Amino acid sequence: MNNVLVYAEHRGGQTRKVTFEMATEARRIADALGGKALALVVGAGSAQLAEQLKNYPLDTIYVNDDADVDKFLLDPVVDYVEAAAKAAGPSLILIPNTLAGRDVAGRLVARLGAGIGADVTDFHIENGVVTCVSPKMGGALITTCALKNADYAIATIRPNAFSVAPSATGAQVQPIEKPAGKTYSAVIESDVDEESSGEMALEEAAVVVAGGRGLGGPEPFDTLLKPLAHALGGAVGASRAAADAGWVSYSLQIGQTGKTVTPSLYVAVGISGAIQHKVGMRASGTIVAINKDGAAPIAEFSDLMVVGDAFSIVPELTKLVESAKKEAVS
Ligand SMILES: Cc1cc2nc3c(=O)[nH]c(=O)nc-3n(C[C@H](O)[C@H](O)[C@H](O)COP(=O)(O)OP(=O)(O)OC[C@H]3O[C@@H](n4cnc5c(N)ncnc54)[C@H](O)[C@@H]3O)c2cc1C
Repeated sequence: MNNVLVYAEHRGGQTRKVTFEMATEARRIADALGGKALALVVGAGSAQLAEQLKNYPLDTIYVNDDADVDKFLLDPVVDYVEAAAKAAGPSLILIPNTLAGRDVAGRLVARLGAGIGADVTDFHIENGVVTCVSPKMGGALITTCALKNADYAIATIRPNAFSVAPSATGAQVQPIEKPAGKTYSAVIESDVDEESSGEMALEEAAVVVAGGRGLGGPEPFDTLLKPLAHALGGAVGASRAAADAGWVSYSLQIGQTGKTVTPSLYVAVGISGAIQHKVGMRASGTIVAINKDGAAPIAEFSDLMVVGDAFSIVPELTKLVESAKKEAVS
């Protein structure tokens, strides 16, 4: 395999940053393998997303705005990715490590007889062999796993683990035919907005306000952190200690066994800064820690360490942000 095919997951043309991370990484891998970097966009809004993808160093973007993709469960997507992979020839297929992406990847493994690297955070390519790096066993192990040299291989990509580097190299948008002879029975009757799970909001947010064990219980996430996050236009996250205690959903956990986030501003409230937390947020732009212990490990990698009680500092900070916003408007 020498081509790299990106499955661009989206809803109505709206996608996540991971799509552009994959488009960027696809070029690097394809160049190392001497192949092409390709993408597939299917369903309503595909043309709009294909236009955005033209800003990335891809060779071809396969497109079909087939309404069946949004009408049925993931079966049409799996058929399209399989068709695109066969049109492209031997390929490494990059799929986002999201709920839907994992489902698509699992089915493709069976269909294509392919190997898979799951939740990949890095790739090494040497002598035509692609090796995937991914955390395993709840993050207790970081494994490197070489993909077998077969026609197809699949890798699910952890969001925010790769960088985004737009560069328009004249990608061609090419229609892809609807796979023939397929019938689908699982019709989507309604869609629950993913935002409500917090998944989309947290990974895409430009500002993250995260809380830890120092908050002492679930209530401060609502009464302290949400108002600050709202004032800053950001999302709420958490340390594993807070998720393990049942104070927040695991979908908010940031770190080695949670999500990787790269906001421009990360505010850590009552979080000590254990290495397993650090790996999920260290690439943030500016890191501000609010902690009553000035010697907590997070002091070592924060841009600003505010030493004091979160319960007095956060409400004051929220008020200051709100009044600064009002002044900016008037
Ligand atoms: C295999 C493995 C995987 C892991 N994966 C993750 C992961 O993905 N994410 C993750 O976060 N952790 C992970 N952990 C756990 C990690 O090691 C830490 O235990 C965890 O991050 C600690 O969470 P914390 O900082 O909220 O709590 P603590 O370490 O207990 O820190 C609480 C902090 O709050 C401060 N504080 C207390 N009261 C106040 C107050 N009133 N105002 C201000 N500050 C206050 C304290 O000074 C302290 O620094 C993992 C561990 C292992 C072994």
